[in-house]
Amino acid sequence: MTHPRLSFSLKDRFGGFVVLLLFGPPGCGKGTQARMVSSWLGIPAVSTGDLLRAEVGARTPLGVVAAAIMETGGLVGDSLVNAMLVRRVEHSDCARGFLLDGFPRTVAQAGFLDDYLASRQLPPGRVIHLEVERHTLIDRMSARRQCPVCGRIYNTLHQPPRSNGVCDNDGAVLIRRKDDHESIVRQRLKEYDELTGPVLHHYCGPRLHSIDGGQPAERVFEDITAAIQWASEREPSSAA
Ligand code: AMP
Repeated sequence: MTHPRLSFSLKDRFGGFVVLLLFGPPGCGKGTQARMVSSWLGIPAVSTGDLLRAEVGARTPLGVVAAAIMETGGLVGDSLVNAMLVRRVEHSDCARGFLLDGFPRTVAQAGFLDDYLASRQLPPGRVIHLEVERHTLIDRMSARRQCPVCGRIYNTLHQPPRSNGVCDNDGAVLIRRKDDHESIVRQRLKEYDELTGPVLHHYCGPRLHSIDGGQPAERVFEDITAAIQWASEREPSSAA
């Protein structure tokens, strides 16, 4: 993203390596912000939901197990997701850090991530928590569409594609995810409250940055970048 006011180089910040956790309930805008922040910092956005959907699409053994769980709005088992995540973040494109979207979702996953980062002598993650009111989440998910090819997310009300129903990037016909239908959405929010909400307590403290995710996407992005700049000025060499 070319945004002169927001220029920022990881080279001399955070000791050149940063792990960001984008956190919040389904529909809070994690996917959109992950794409913007990843492009701004030059680190990959790793979405466990996207990784699982790729496994489902490829009909791998993990994908077959995950498909049945994802269709009901439940969470895939910690050990399966943890192993999948480690495989992904050990790719060379994660050498300067990575942004996690949708992980950790349980306290057990958060503990696993802490141990994993410590075992690689990497700094603990910084959490960006997107707060959005419940009725806004339900409205957003009902209007959400996704490109099945590049994964880009649109909203038919607030962020429609340039041409109705097709992706701006590659022209693929946009789809509505099965788990964005209202009964599944309610189940996903319930799972979030029960299992994922407590993860926030795990990260309670100065590494947690709460952002108003109910604003337009560009404003949310500016608030996130301000929080990251602020954090980097206070902790310039956290990887040391
Ligand atoms: P998302 O695209 O992040 O909303 O994830 C879609 C679905 O994938 C979730 O409803 C879960 O079924 C599954 N999933 C994604 N990330 C995780 C995770 N960290 N742990 C367990 N299940 C996950």
